[in-house]
Amino acid sequence: MTQHSPDSSVNYRDVGVAFLQNADKCHPGSWVICQSQDTDGKKYTYIAQVTEILQSSDSNEEQEQKAEFLVVQYGDVLQSHPTYKMWQLVFHILSPSRQDAQCTVNIQHNCHDNKCTIELGVVAMQEREKSSDRKFIVKHLNPSDFILNTS
Ligand SMILES: [Zn+2]
Repeated sequence: MTQHSPDSSVNYRDVGVAFLQNADKCHPGSWVICQSQDTDGKKYTYIAQVTEILQSSDSNEEQEQKAEFLVVQYGDVLQSHPTYKMWQLVFHILSPSRQDAQCTVNIQHNCHDNKCTIELGVVAMQEREKSSDRKFIVKHLNPSDFILNTS
């Protein structure tokens, strides 16, 4: 758990964007590397997906649009499931401070191993008229299987 966490007596609003320690811009949906401390002061690092970006409504930083906390979700391997014979995942919601978030990371779906397909999308409507533009869309299978893109 993080040492600094949102105060339940304070009203927060979702400001939708934050600039991290290395000046990376993140928003809900971004993947970030966070470094937090547990209750014993031991640092731990994890990769998580941002769901919200919080700033207290009465914050002095409000005019500067500086987010104070992120709300993130990360998955952790729990144990091997006896019936499925596969790893059970548990998802945690954490609220690291903006200072805990080091940088954004590029996460891509593992399309190769999941044999994701490319399909022609539905006809898009543009200004109430059918457009002839049909876009190719990747249909991701097993949507929680990701690759950390370090290239
Ligand atoms: Zn895919």
